[in-house]
Amino acid sequence: MRSKVVVGNWKLNGSLAGNESLLRALLREIPRDTPVACAVCVPSPYLAQVQGLLTGSGIGWGAQDVSRFEKGAYTGDVAAAMVAEFGARYAIVGHSERRTVFGDTDEVVADKYAAARKAKLTPIFCVGETLQEREQGRTEAVLARQVDALLGKCGVAELEGGIVAYEPVWAIGTGKTATSAQAQEAHAFIRGRIGAKDQGISAKLPILYGGSVKAANAAELFAMPDVDGGLVGGASLVAEEFLAIWRAAVAVVEKGR
Ligand code: PEP
Repeated sequence: MRSKVVVGNWKLNGSLAGNESLLRALLREIPRDTPVACAVCVPSPYLAQVQGLLTGSGIGWGAQDVSRFEKGAYTGDVAAAMVAEFGARYAIVGHSERRTVFGDTDEVVADKYAAARKAKLTPIFCVGETLQEREQGRTEAVLARQVDALLGKCGVAELEGGIVAYEPVWAIGTGKTATSAQAQEAHAFIRGRIGAKDQGISAKLPILYGGSVKAANAAELFAMPDVDGGLVGGASLVAEEFLAIWRAAVAVVEKGR
């Protein structure tokens, strides 16, 4: 059985005081030897604070994006190596909000994935279709395009040690969640696409579901064979809700033992 991972994506939210109380609440419950890896991806200015609070704990941390460049005249960008200097383990790349609001193309996302890997971060590579694409029956074509762009630029070997997140755009921040069957179907498709290049890497690759995951739907989603945890936006800002999602993942892992 692949291990499960639960990652919070704080998006553009947080304050020094609010972060501290949220993280202290998580630290009270999540043990150092947690059976389900847990992490928070925070706005970059908070990386130092999070490093201070979480070092030595069972909770990892990361950034929500990285520059495709290593250094130079790229005002506003944050390099993967800078993120890594704060002890971060993860970097989200290709989140649909970066793709739609900031214009990250498949090619840019692949560059960011490579930049994260080069800095020894674990990239969390997001893919997913819009509502219109789903309604037009183009879900698999879109996922194939997004996955193939990464495979084409980075090569399948770079997926070893990475994470994929299937995040249907119509489910992000909308309160609408994919059914567990829809999630399983998309995850199996993604795994198969990568498996066509390398079965071994694909079999070990964690594929997280993201899109309005909450305490009420986490257990059902995480019980699906190809759903290896969640990328959690809104619910990761509420300690009790995020903890309940993490507990749901722990329960699925313990049941499978
Ligand atoms: C996300 O930001 O990746 C996300 C899935 O958000 P939400 O859980 O709020 O839908």
